[in-house]
Amino acid sequence: MTTPPADNFKQWSIPPESSAAQAIDAALARIGQHDSAVHAFLDVWSHDARRRAAEIDARRAHGDDAEPLAGMPIAVKDNICTRNGRTTCASRILENYRSPFDAHVIERLEAAGAVIVGKTNLDEFAMGSSTEHSAFGPTRNPWNPACVPGGSSGGSAAAVAARMVPAALGSDTGGSIRQPAAFCGVTGLKPTYGRVSRYGLVAFGSSLDQIGPLAADARGVAAILRAIAGRDPRDSTSVEEPVPDYVAELDKPLAPKRIGIPREYFGAGLDGEVRAAVEEAVAVFERLGARRVEVSLPHTDDSLPVYYLISSAEASSNLARFDGVHYGHRTAHPADYIDVYSGSREEGFGAEVKRRIMLGTYALSSGYYDAYYLKALKVRTLIRDEFLRAFEACDLLACPTSPFPPFRLGERTEDPLSMYLADAYTFGANLAGVPAISLPCGFTASGLPIGLQLMGPHFSEARLLRAAHAYQRETDWHTRVPPGMA
Ligand code: GLN
Repeated sequence: MTTPPADNFKQWSIPPESSAAQAIDAALARIGQHDSAVHAFLDVWSHDARRRAAEIDARRAHGDDAEPLAGMPIAVKDNICTRNGRTTCASRILENYRSPFDAHVIERLEAAGAVIVGKTNLDEFAMGSSTEHSAFGPTRNPWNPACVPGGSSGGSAAAVAARMVPAALGSDTGGSIRQPAAFCGVTGLKPTYGRVSRYGLVAFGSSLDQIGPLAADARGVAAILRAIAGRDPRDSTSVEEPVPDYVAELDKPLAPKRIGIPREYFGAGLDGEVRAAVEEAVAVFERLGARRVEVSLPHTDDSLPVYYLISSAEASSNLARFDGVHYGHRTAHPADYIDVYSGSREEGFGAEVKRRIMLGTYALSSGYYDAYYLKALKVRTLIRDEFLRAFEACDLLACPTSPFPPFRLGERTEDPLSMYLADAYTFGANLAGVPAISLPCGFTASGLPIGLQLMGPHFSEARLLRAAHAYQRETDWHTRVPPGMA
């Protein structure tokens, strides 16, 4: 049997393996060893992953060229449709849902030779910041099991942090890739809106949702993004824009000369240890030759209410299809036909999802539409314009990913507003549609990861990844592994 070229494995954070079969076995062994404590996975595809790996190795033995991600184990958030297994969105209502098709990103990853090893846990329908709103129990932070991994892509972030897989897919509507990446000490990117096809992503807020990669470092993220980005006619909002070779771009000289520091992202409410770590990270960029410029994004405080109005309005419409008739769980003994709908939804949805549907329905109802939804759309345009203006003064923006480090399970579940604050610094990029990356930049005194967020203009993913990579050549935060998981 031929051994795959070493290059294929360079971006991996699990030890280099000599065959797809060994790589998959190693990932499955790590999952077996750690996932009972972490609960990153809702389903593990041991049998299918081994079969796929054997096929890849057989192709290689025949001298076929290795695909760019040949044999790379990948975990996929369970709101991304896969023909294999179930796609539950961590909801009772879709507990037994089997998708008849694969999402675009799944087709692209498999064509690139990646092997999906399982589906990961999330907040129900991706609504949350802690993965505690999963109908199937929370995921725990590999750095401290008493703490949340962030959310909603908490399963994907925890799986990468515990080195069960070298990379995973998440989705990000208001921070759901970046905030768990920060909480788990891994690297996660939300692409430009339209960069990656949403075909097969169960919709939450359609004008905000993007699928993106999580990996230990910028190189892993670049390798996955290169495979999944690009126009797909099945998602009319995906864009024709050419896809650069994000991996090859990494080693070009650091382009960003001006690092913008948005004043509003360093104000009251920012944890002291997070502030210190982020300031230190900015100093690393200064040592690399970048100049620090102060910028202002005055509508930052509006991004939370604007995000919750728009995302909930869109969710209330998107989730109408889960009614026991078109899709999902159906109540067993409906009193009448209305009860088929209301009973099924009452039983199937969790409390947070119901809260969003009510909020969204209210914001869209006649009499309130202009006062809430329409006004939110107008402020969204102001926020977007403000970002575009900021990018005239700087090449990228640097700030904390989350105002505070990982919190304890249960600490914020009783107070939705305090949970919503976890994404105060991440909503902006979704509302403006710009790309943003979170990368590890230090630890609190109690050993919990801290994330640095970099945001750039539309379609500047290569620039963000290059900056992240330059930083990761100077620092070793991204190489740290949770205690007991080396
Ligand atoms: N935490 C935010 C919310 O609950 C963002 C979620 C997401 O990005 N999917 O809406």
